[in-house]
Amino acid sequence: MTDHVKQLIHGGRVLTAGRLGGEHADVLIEDDTILAVLPAGESVSDDARRIDATNRLLIPGLVNAHTHGVVNLSKALGDRWSLELLLNAYPWTAGGRTLEHKYLSAFIGAVEMVRKGCTACYDLVAELPAPSVEGIDAVARAYNDAGMRAVIAPMMADVSFYRAIPGLLDAIPSPLRERAAAISLNPFDVTLATCRQLLDKWSWDRDQLRPALGPTIPHHCTDAFIIGCRDLAREHGIGVQMHVAESKVQAVVGMQRYGATLVGHLDNLRLLAPNFTAAHAIWLDDDDIGRLADAGASVAHNPGSNLRLGSGLAATRKLRDRGVTFGIGTDGCISSDNLNMFEAMRMAAFGSRVQGPDPRQWLSAAETFEAATIGGARALGMEGRIGQIAPGHKADVVFLDLTSINYVPLNEPLLHKVFCEDGTGIDRVMVGGKMLVQDGRVIGIDMGKLANEANAAVARLAQVNADARAFVQALEPVVLDYCVGLARQPYPVQRWCGHAHP
Ligand SMILES: [Zn+2]
Repeated sequence: MTDHVKQLIHGGRVLTAGRLGGEHADVLIEDDTILAVLPAGESVSDDARRIDATNRLLIPGLVNAHTHGVVNLSKALGDRWSLELLLNAYPWTAGGRTLEHKYLSAFIGAVEMVRKGCTACYDLVAELPAPSVEGIDAVARAYNDAGMRAVIAPMMADVSFYRAIPGLLDAIPSPLRERAAAISLNPFDVTLATCRQLLDKWSWDRDQLRPALGPTIPHHCTDAFIIGCRDLAREHGIGVQMHVAESKVQAVVGMQRYGATLVGHLDNLRLLAPNFTAAHAIWLDDDDIGRLADAGASVAHNPGSNLRLGSGLAATRKLRDRGVTFGIGTDGCISSDNLNMFEAMRMAAFGSRVQGPDPRQWLSAAETFEAATIGGARALGMEGRIGQIAPGHKADVVFLDLTSINYVPLNEPLLHKVFCEDGTGIDRVMVGGKMLVQDGRVIGIDMGKLANEANAAVARLAQVNADARAFVQALEPVVLDYCVGLARQPYPVQRWCGHAHP
């Protein structure tokens, strides 16, 4: 008599690192972990529950290296926003949330990700005005209830957006200026005390949910705050993720403020390390890329967000070739709408191809797949645990239906998966041996009920945030002009298409 539960996924084809041909194989699972990948039909376990995967392509659950669960209630709110206009809008789009809103918002994102074949993510949770133990716990509960894995980091700053950009406050006319100037964030020691409390109290299973720290953007954080995050993360053996050089405005401001690149500044603060992930990392020079690589740091590449916000194209080939751990993210839905890792993969591959004429420099399907699985696993600090269908890894498996239109006719499975699949071919999704999606539907989720709850929450938030909305919309033209002016200043690297950006 054993307490262990064995399952055998049989009859399918397996596409994972080292098996990029998608050959037939069976997958033996014990409890939440993969025991073996066996030659097709060679079942060794009579006591295993059998799961038929005939006409299915099995891939590891995709890993989303960067998202923001708290803004899933702000889906489809802004159109032609640059990053700076998006940050300006945050008091409206991320403000006024109760604990229930935070839970619901994260839950909506988890449902979408799981439905679309993503089984783990790195979530930077923005809470206004300040991070809270209860807020992060609500987000953790949402991921737990959805059955997904997540690294959850409070997204934090101790300098307001309006003060972070030199000269911006002065450009704002009265009385808006006084109101923008009055926005003050908690001093860093108060925020760090909250983080310490959060880490001391963390009771979630760290295989599923683990904490991290998210000082949001270098110049939105004082040096003392960044150093405090660095030391606290090392003390607790957890990750740090930060938006780094996402926009040209940030790169220009970094140079103004520090006399150094943003990566150079973070290196001076000794933040760069294997537990560090730079989200976006677009406006980097070769020295920056070398510093990230030498430190063993990761990059979370978010091509959908970078295209939508006009942030630029990350130097994906250089990052990869220089040895920077490279994962792919969707970013939050406020900047790239859906949380679809299949789409993010496609855009990562395609975005690499408008950067030069030599196809040998483009991201291949295999490299893109690796980034969305193993690369993401490394960025989450879960390497060797997720991102592969291999012994010792968690049984996080996506079943793609080879009779769906995305695979008709079937040629190279890897190319179908990276270039044809859009999530509509997903039949089942398993996390830790437990089926969360069946026949393309998230098990146990009443979508009508979820939509009603979300729409009620949005109606409430529209009331609560009406004043914040009017305020940020009044500021928008000033922020727009000022930041476009900064973005037109010379900078040594160019990450927009074309020779000159008008
Ligand atoms: Zn982000």
